[in-house]
Amino acid sequence: MIVDRFGRRFRNLRVSLTAACNYACTYCVPDGRRLMKAKDELTADELVLAVRYLMQAAGIEKIRITGGEPLISSKFDTFLPHVMALPLKDVSFTTNGQMLERKISIIRDAGVQRINVSLDTLDAERFRQIARGGDLATVLRGIDAALDSGIRVKINMVPIKTGNADQVLPMLEYCLERGMELRFIELMRMGHLVHSAAYDRDFLPMQEILDAIALEYQFTRTDAPYDSTSVRYEIPGRGFFGIIANESEPFCASCTRLRLSSDGYLYGCLSNANRHYIRDLLLEPAHVVLPRLQGILMTALTDKQEAFQGEVTVMKLIGG
Ligand code: SAM
Repeated sequence: MIVDRFGRRFRNLRVSLTAACNYACTYCVPDGRRLMKAKDELTADELVLAVRYLMQAAGIEKIRITGGEPLISSKFDTFLPHVMALPLKDVSFTTNGQMLERKISIIRDAGVQRINVSLDTLDAERFRQIARGGDLATVLRGIDAALDSGIRVKINMVPIKTGNADQVLPMLEYCLERGMELRFIELMRMGHLVHSAAYDRDFLPMQEILDAIALEYQFTRTDAPYDSTSVRYEIPGRGFFGIIANESEPFCASCTRLRLSSDGYLYGCLSNANRHYIRDLLLEPAHVVLPRLQGILMTALTDKQEAFQGEVTVMKLIGG
């Protein structure tokens, strides 16, 4: 097993099906731009092959399918059942929910147990301003369809000071009522936000999120798994919520994530633009692929940072 000096190894793989997205969220996509698919996307078969090799070479145990927006990719319908059939501890995906209702039978039939849906507000007009694509009612129907199918849903919300800070309590109540865990993601210095004053203006720290929640609820901090990104809280008798506090409580020291982009690059760290092309390697026989892949993984592990610095490129391509 490949382990670094902090005891970190790759355990969780995030696979981006496409860099394209039907949203253009203000904190993810610069004004006037849309996220487009890469020219040379891997096919569903190539992605499955890459996953199989990475399970062997890195000991990957969990897969999260992401994007761009994974549900708009034509590969989703074939990739999902194929990875569900692999001997993994967990397969899930993260989506903006716009296509969830339409795809629910494929998702249910594949046996998916849990998903993450990104939702920043319950106000339809604000939704349009932040997401710049899709509509709120469709997402809410998608969430209901997933819950009705017995799928566990976590909701991801990025609180933004000038955008949706007043939605912290309504979003929490909406999630608690439906038995869903809400996870607040502290705004990260990614993409166009890295060198932008908008980051400092919009960043809402963990403590302010907790202060807002404390106005209505009593809560206590609970244990989270070793390599969890989220700090978890329990509201007794109601449920749980979490905060992915990248700035306030960084989790780089226990990060086990590896990322595969839709065009065949491995990324060892979200805070590092270094990437490693593996598409051509997949064409070689297995006895060639595995040792070469292990070499690449060793380098990718050294790409991991001790603390998150921010990065210009990757979030919108490889899905956070
Ligand atoms: N389209 C899918 C979705 O909406 O979940 C997957 C890709 S999206 C990039 C993954 C997550 O990253 C979303 O929850 C999104 O809100 C979050 N995200 C994007 N840019 C971010 C940033 N600068 N800081 C924090 N979270 C961000």
